[in-house]
Amino acid sequence: MRGSVKQELTPMFKQYLQIKAQYPDCILFFRLGDFYEMFFEDAERVSQLLGLVLTKREAGKDFFAPMCGVPAEKADFYIQRLLELGFKIAICEQVEDPALAKGLVKREVVRTYTPGLNAEIAFLKGKEKVYLSALRLGPKASLAFLELSCGEFLHTELPIEKALAEIIKKEPKEILLPENLKEDELVQRLKALLPNLTISFLPEREFKDGVSAIKFYLELYQPELKENLSDPLWYYPEDYLYLDEPTKRNLELLRNLWDNSEKYSLYWILDETVSPMGGRLLKDWILYPLRSPEEIVKRQRAVEFFFEQRALRRSLREALQKIYDLERIANRCKLRLANPKELSLLRHSLSLLPQIKEILSKEKNFLPQLLLELYQELQEFTELYEVLEKTLVEDPAPLNKGTPIIKKGFSSELDELRSLKENAMEYLSTLEKRLRQETGLPNLKLGYNRVFGYYLELPKAQAKLAPPTFERKQTLTNAERFTTKELKELEVKIVTAEEKIKALEVALFQELRERVAKEAPLLHKTAKALAILDVLQALAEVADRYGYTKPEITQERLLIVEEGRHPVLERILGPQNFVSNNLRMDDKARLHIITGPNMGGKSTFLRQNALIIILAQMGSFVPASYAKMPVFDRIFTRIGAGDELIRGRSTFMVEMSECANILKNATSQSFVILDEIGRGTSTYDGLSLAWAIAETLYQKKVFTLLATHYFELTDLIKTYEGIKNYHVEVKEWEKEIIFLYRIKEGPANQSYGIEVAKLAGLDEEVIKRAQKILAHLEEKKVKKIWEIKKREKGVEYRTMQLSIFSTPSYEGIIEKLKKIDPNQMTPLSALEFLYQLKKEVEGNR
Ligand code: ADP
Repeated sequence: MRGSVKQELTPMFKQYLQIKAQYPDCILFFRLGDFYEMFFEDAERVSQLLGLVLTKREAGKDFFAPMCGVPAEKADFYIQRLLELGFKIAICEQVEDPALAKGLVKREVVRTYTPGLNAEIAFLKGKEKVYLSALRLGPKASLAFLELSCGEFLHTELPIEKALAEIIKKEPKEILLPENLKEDELVQRLKALLPNLTISFLPEREFKDGVSAIKFYLELYQPELKENLSDPLWYYPEDYLYLDEPTKRNLELLRNLWDNSEKYSLYWILDETVSPMGGRLLKDWILYPLRSPEEIVKRQRAVEFFFEQRALRRSLREALQKIYDLERIANRCKLRLANPKELSLLRHSLSLLPQIKEILSKEKNFLPQLLLELYQELQEFTELYEVLEKTLVEDPAPLNKGTPIIKKGFSSELDELRSLKENAMEYLSTLEKRLRQETGLPNLKLGYNRVFGYYLELPKAQAKLAPPTFERKQTLTNAERFTTKELKELEVKIVTAEEKIKALEVALFQELRERVAKEAPLLHKTAKALAILDVLQALAEVADRYGYTKPEITQERLLIVEEGRHPVLERILGPQNFVSNNLRMDDKARLHIITGPNMGGKSTFLRQNALIIILAQMGSFVPASYAKMPVFDRIFTRIGAGDELIRGRSTFMVEMSECANILKNATSQSFVILDEIGRGTSTYDGLSLAWAIAETLYQKKVFTLLATHYFELTDLIKTYEGIKNYHVEVKEWEKEIIFLYRIKEGPANQSYGIEVAKLAGLDEEVIKRAQKILAHLEEKKVKKIWEIKKREKGVEYRTMQLSIFSTPSYEGIIEKLKKIDPNQMTPLSALEFLYQLKKEVEGNR
């Protein structure tokens, strides 16, 4: 606003602009009576985005401000929407009673929200975390994450590529970056990979590390919370089975690839948790499977216990289901944010804890170690529960609503004030009756209004009959309102009592919240234990319902999956329609080349085995009749490329950078699946690259499943004894092709493409022509590869023994052809030469 205009603004608009100036990057929700109003540009943007009516309000002489508003009661909904759209919001309240205000009502910003700083349970999805993250680059990137509503504060240091993968894994809603990165390519990559991410730039000096940046940001937006924030915890993503970004995406661990929702993801299959804390923890377990065999086995035993104890599991589920979000509520107490309703939910949740302990204690002597530890971690909070029970009414309304929050009998001072008020109220209703009698006016009514307080009302026509003790208070179209000395006195009594009651209730409530806050660390521990119990029972539930088995963890380099299934596809198709498959890998069969027609089930097989490993290292049972496996350190995937184009990089570039990453980071303890590598480029480039990549992984002793349409790769077995060929089985039946989805040893039938087309009823002529073209192409391929070889002259090419390379050496023949001159030859010597050549070619085969 320009100064000259400002002079002419109404006092309220001056106030508005003053406040707005302190929060220039926030949408300012400005409280006006029962509404939050937005003005100027805020109003224009928000009205359009949320479909609100854009109106205007006089802001000064002949000057109107664009305006839109939302009812205060429904504000949560709009705030949530705006946060999802990446906005920051400042809530400006009337901080004094408008009825008592002299002149303009005082207003202040009481709370701000940003997409990543949000601890309002009402705005959050139960089973979802909302992270604020901060990244500082350097020789090692410093990375921090804050989940304000759960009180989770993490930090770590990583090489930049891994830091990026970590960010994408945790999907923060907001990230803080130093200002000097504004134009960096990193920002573009983050935007492409996380389209909903809000990026906030802060001065570089605040980035001593990720943690300091987050603290600085909190100080800016929610300074009152900083004091009670938990200390940051150091964590190492390397301690876990490492899943890089493409792996998380391709294996559809938390979201599917087509609409990015949770449906048909691994999480969706496993989520039999019954509490929000359990749901959130399950996601962590999926993204961070374990690497310590002892820890895995410890979890397995707990899952096994719940698997076997069906009845116990059922009662545990029922009890856990009734528990509210203890983790978030405890944290909100710690942050001094919890409201009366939340404390009553806490009370309810605490009331169930003895029941949960009881369920476990029945089997106490048989509990596996992890469950025993959790059992001991679970506190009952009997005392805290009693305090809450004694203090808080059954179903408390929000503070300051005038409805009681504190129970009768808790504070004698409060009870006294309340009875004072009640007596006065009672007196009030007798006053009405009495005055009607005294005045003989049956239409005389006692009323109350927030601005004018208590009044006596008469219809306009009878107003003149009012006795002289009646003082005129307010004139309406059809009625006249009065007050009397007695009424005024009563009103003062009531209002003073009410004010005192409110203030006392607030004080008592805060005291209660302090009391809970003191126990927040213990509550947090209990909440964590409940979350773990919930995930363990969920894994058992899934295992039981869908026939999973406990995998055996071995020290050997041996991976066996018998009758393995794809956990998601099996659920979609129904178990009877899914064909299970075996896998056996060891050093003698560490690279499997899987060939076969499109849609034959190769990709499914690859993914199912990667998922089975992830499940096993989470401590879960797996969809197989038997499984045995070592602990892997990393899983890498290189799958399809369909969605990459949207991300703005060429398919082939993405593919190769993913492959480069795999080759660089895969170890002999890693598991790699490669689906159709080399597709994004010309056949020969692609084939050569696929060949070389396969060899490198083989030499690094990485357990690798490779699905390919390059039939030539099946020749790798001729050189390496640890490579095996497999194919997906297809059957022809009554001119139909039937995909059997069975993985069989040996390479696939090479000409399946044209065969399939024939079966599918493609015209005979077309088939013949296709066969000719194929023959021609094969011939060309020979020439092309010959050229490659020539270029590579002098280079030892022993490893690159493509089948095609081992076909006849044409070098000598070509030399011979160059030497002869057909014009100088007799027909007989020409014929003889031809015979000789043919012999040479055949001899070479
Ligand atoms: P490919 O990678 O060989 O092209 P996919 O693995 O993508 O083939 O499988 C194609 C389709 O075949 C899947 O979407 C699924 O419907 C079906 N399919 C794959 N594997 C199986 C299986 N083991 N049992 C039943 N159906 C399967």
